[in-house]
Amino acid sequence: MGGTLIDRAEGKAVPMAKGKIKVQSENIFPIIKKFLYSDHEIFLRELVSNAIDATNKLKALAEMGELKGDIGKPIIEVKIDEKNKRLHIIDRGIGMTAEEVKKYINEVAFSGAAEFVEQYRDKSQQTHAMIGHFGLGFYSAFMVADKVEIRTRSHRDEPAVYWSCDGTTAYNLKKGTKTERGTEVILHIDEENEEFLQRGRIAELLNKYNQFAPVPIKFGSREETVKEGGKEKKIEVDNIVNNPEPAWTQSPKDLTDEDYVKFYRELYPMQLDKPLFWIHLNVDYPFKLTGILYFPKIKSQLQPVKDKIQLYQNQIFVTDNVEGIAADFLTLMRGVIDSPDIPLNVSRSYLQADVAVKKISGYITRKVADKLSDIFKNNRGELEKKWSDIKVIIEYGMLTDGKFFEKAKRFSLYQNTAGQYFTLGEFTDKIRDGQTDTAGKLIYLYATDRHAQHSYIASAQAKGYDVLLLDSPLTAHFIQKLEADGKDISFVRVDADSIDKLIKKAGSAVSKLSEKEREKLKSIIEENAPEKSFTIQLEALDSDVNPFVITIPEFMRRMKEINQTGAGMLGMENLPESYNLIVNTNSNFVARILKTESEEARKELITQALDLARLSQNLLKGESLTQFIKRSFELI
Ligand code: ADP
Repeated sequence: MGGTLIDRAEGKAVPMAKGKIKVQSENIFPIIKKFLYSDHEIFLRELVSNAIDATNKLKALAEMGELKGDIGKPIIEVKIDEKNKRLHIIDRGIGMTAEEVKKYINEVAFSGAAEFVEQYRDKSQQTHAMIGHFGLGFYSAFMVADKVEIRTRSHRDEPAVYWSCDGTTAYNLKKGTKTERGTEVILHIDEENEEFLQRGRIAELLNKYNQFAPVPIKFGSREETVKEGGKEKKIEVDNIVNNPEPAWTQSPKDLTDEDYVKFYRELYPMQLDKPLFWIHLNVDYPFKLTGILYFPKIKSQLQPVKDKIQLYQNQIFVTDNVEGIAADFLTLMRGVIDSPDIPLNVSRSYLQADVAVKKISGYITRKVADKLSDIFKNNRGELEKKWSDIKVIIEYGMLTDGKFFEKAKRFSLYQNTAGQYFTLGEFTDKIRDGQTDTAGKLIYLYATDRHAQHSYIASAQAKGYDVLLLDSPLTAHFIQKLEADGKDISFVRVDADSIDKLIKKAGSAVSKLSEKEREKLKSIIEENAPEKSFTIQLEALDSDVNPFVITIPEFMRRMKEINQTGAGMLGMENLPESYNLIVNTNSNFVARILKTESEEARKELITQALDLARLSQNLLKGESLTQFIKRSFELI
């Protein structure tokens, strides 16, 4: 752009009017300044949005054939004039006539700002957080400037207009000298806000709010090397800071997988991972909504994600807090939602009760479910491959959203410890015969850690059982939900009980010991067990089952876990660990204990066996472990 944009001849123009902005109760400017302290930066978003609106209006007029001449190349320029401490926002939009400035700036814009201040004057902290979402409009300029000038020329054949206001209610309106169509807003940045004269700060704001604004935004220029007649030549080109046609505004059929991944990188330059799946949202009726949601790789962490879904309105960034707009579980996803139909100047609880917002939220959830269902039907291998990275989101959704649960039931996958994937239906068919207990209950055996519970998994497999691997942080909640949804089913972790009792079957082994021998055995173990933290259970198991096994009863453990990761019965998170020591009375080892006369030798046997049992449950630590190792070396 040429130098004509900054024209210092304004003073010579003939005054058209001096006036007073109509004030309802009092001067709003000091309030705007003070009250909106924390959100000063939004002035730029507001002014650039006005420039975009003005440009779009011009395009619309041109399309209707109501514009004389050419609309030229639409562009918005943001320019810092460091020397004079001014910031310029310049557009080539429809511009304003004197009448329009009077009407839109002095009356409409002002009353909008006054209404805003009126509404939020007495509200608390919580409201502050919402202010950034509210279009305060043109007058937000006074948050950072002590004087604002407008130089504008309408697309109509009317004289240019100059307006200025120094932060009082008096304004100055006169004939201007602007020769090009469009509007230039000049902010005289005040002392407290000089940060907005720094190139880096403005670049940061343009990137935050306007990265995907629909009109190219020029901010400075840069050198580019071009070839001309075999010679290299350096030329100055506009430095455009935004991408006016982001992927979500395009038609899905025009986009390749690479385009989607590229856009993900544009959104989250700091993210090194590749998105796993994406969903292109596009609806016109009964509300307008576009966007792209990505499933990122989520391991097991459930802490709040840093790179969140971003909410836009007509390609202008509004917030990255979509709570209330998208279902809770989707806040683990990434991407963009763009909808002009989401009311933002309202409280969160109002938002959640709003019918339109409910529809939007429901639509998004449905699209996510449909997409996953599609992949399940058409590309199950792909879903299996990525399942462990996305299952937390899906489990979270199934737990918190009834409608999603019903849909996801059909495609949600379960992996067994052998690495095969099943739907719950498929898995149920596979185990029904072998894993139904005497009471007719179907038992799903599961492990939460393939390695830590290896010996328990191995003994279950030896019995012919199929063990699921449920290793997400939500597992305890999730199986609770599945049990409530199913009929006569139970989830039992492989180490919850002795192998014969995990799934109760008729005709268990007969005890080799007499009642008297059992009592003797029990008191010997009690005497010699170093801690009293186990409940001793004598059981007649197959003779090849380990003599001592430590189990953790399902119910107590699960309640404890549920309380560690969220709501449940109060106080349960402080439950002590509860362990059972299963003693296999049919094992040769037990026979040997009973035969051993020396008390010393008996103690040694029991201590060693107990340590082995603790070892397989990962409970042998510290000094006990050191002693165990020493003792074992001595034994060999
Ligand atoms: P809003 O944009 O929400 O209507 P504003 O206070 O930001 O409220 O602006 C008030 C009005 O002033 C706009 O509706 C528009 O008619 C006019 N206006 C503001 N900025 C421009 C501009 N750059 N070009 C043309 N008209 C503008």
